[in-house]
Amino acid sequence: MALYSQPQQLNVPKQTSHPVDFVIVGAGLTGLSCAIALRRVGHRVQVLDRSPTLHMTAGGARVPPNMSKILYHWGLEEEVRKISFKSRAIHLLLCESGEHLGKHHWDEEMLKEARGDFVAVYQRDLRKLLYDTAIAKGANVRLNTPVKSVDPDSRTVTLMSGEVIRADIIVGADGVNGVTRPLLTDEPHGQRGALNMYCTTIPKEKILEDDDLKFFYTQKPAAMYSWWGDGRIVLTYPIAKTHDIGMYVYGPWDGQESTWDKTVSARGMHEILSNCEIRLRKLGRLAEPPTCVNSREYADLEEWVHESGRLVLIGEAAHPLPAGAIHMGAMGVEDGAVLAKLFSHLRTDDQIGSFLWAFQDLRQPRCAAVSKKETGDIHFMTFPPGEMQQYRDNAMRAKRDAGIDALASTNEHEESPEWEEIKEMFAYDAEDEADNWWVEWGLLRERARGVDTGFHMDEIVVAHEVSN
Ligand SMILES: Cc1cc2nc3c(=O)[nH]c(=O)nc-3n(C[C@H](O)[C@H](O)[C@H](O)COP(=O)(O)OP(=O)(O)OC[C@H]3O[C@@H](n4cnc5c(N)ncnc54)[C@H](O)[C@@H]3O)c2cc1C
Repeated sequence: MALYSQPQQLNVPKQTSHPVDFVIVGAGLTGLSCAIALRRVGHRVQVLDRSPTLHMTAGGARVPPNMSKILYHWGLEEEVRKISFKSRAIHLLLCESGEHLGKHHWDEEMLKEARGDFVAVYQRDLRKLLYDTAIAKGANVRLNTPVKSVDPDSRTVTLMSGEVIRADIIVGADGVNGVTRPLLTDEPHGQRGALNMYCTTIPKEKILEDDDLKFFYTQKPAAMYSWWGDGRIVLTYPIAKTHDIGMYVYGPWDGQESTWDKTVSARGMHEILSNCEIRLRKLGRLAEPPTCVNSREYADLEEWVHESGRLVLIGEAAHPLPAGAIHMGAMGVEDGAVLAKLFSHLRTDDQIGSFLWAFQDLRQPRCAAVSKKETGDIHFMTFPPGEMQQYRDNAMRAKRDAGIDALASTNEHEESPEWEEIKEMFAYDAEDEADNWWVEWGLLRERARGVDTGFHMDEIVVAHEVSN
């Protein structure tokens, strides 16, 4: 059978000819995205989560273009717009003095090329959207269903209730503290990191009551703000249609550590802000009760696929990023999109292992590059006073005084390496990468196995155009 002999309709992905049963452990952003993606290509999906409800603490998250483009491709553009706010620039300042070091505009041309937007949302709104979509697409999402253990060899998942669920493929999307990660590493929990990150939001009406803080709404275009200091960072971004402000506050580990689902006392956050400029101290006082997550350091997992060839880890369970990283949600959504693209080609059970390892091959370099960049950015923003910090600040001041965007090059004929790197991360199209893998390697493997793929170059071109 010719794999691409039937032209597909726009936005209707290729359907598997061999639907199988996936069980996804974890209904966070990653697990739910994966459920949507797998349902779109015709597999049967069950998602299990221990949380009794979808309720989340009042935290926000940034959605970069490489993530929003996937959600748009899945038909969710209008829904994402309803729950998000689009920032058009970022301002860079110093924590202690409040000095404005510069700004950078997210250039429209870049966003057009990336085919996505840079927006911010309440985590809970995005999770609800993904949950509703997964259900609408036919996934069986079971909340209040804690998983006790997973046995990849027998392909079973045992619930705390004693119920045993059998699947063809088990997907571990249960984050860093789940039950699947320990099946692939002896050190699932990593080492405590030097920084704690407090995550909170501040309602718009409270900000408008303070003359020092009104600039969030009077300055145009609406922007994110990033304050840098000695071992500390404050990031703010407008979220949701309410235009509330999301805030991440990084500072030295202070003995307080919790998980994303529990709020803590704001004492530690106020302590970090205590030597910052007045506007930050005021924001801290107006903030909702924060969550506090340590920026733990994790060794890279060598394998994301269990030797049985029936369990794969995705999202934070496979490749944790520093808390509050820009791409934290994006990497999980990309994972789900890639996994489903590969499994849209499933015709027989004996392809399962090779598709899972292809997934690992595709995703590991991308996630490692993103992790390196995010970790490097945190280091750059938290330089202690000294030569490096002075060099950084003076370089920014020079651009600011020359009227040049902070990430722009001083040479008008080329782009700065920093901006090129960011553009590349935003332009990345996970689904295209999976299609490319299929055309370059998947079909060859099929032919090596004696399968009559019957493909022709023009059909491959059609497939690429349709999937875009
Ligand atoms: C409750 C919560 C609130 C968050 N709030 C924010 C925020 O405000 N801002 C921000 O930037 N990031 C937040 N994050 C982090 C961010 O959402 C994730 O890091 C990122 O989206 C990728 O997550 P993930 O889906 O891979 O893993 P996670 O978000 O960690 O999701 C893992 C899921 O697996 C479930 N799970 C774990 N163990 C089991 C088990 N044994 N049985 C069944 N289910 C299990 C968990 O309940 C959870 O829903 C939050 C995460 C959580 C879980």
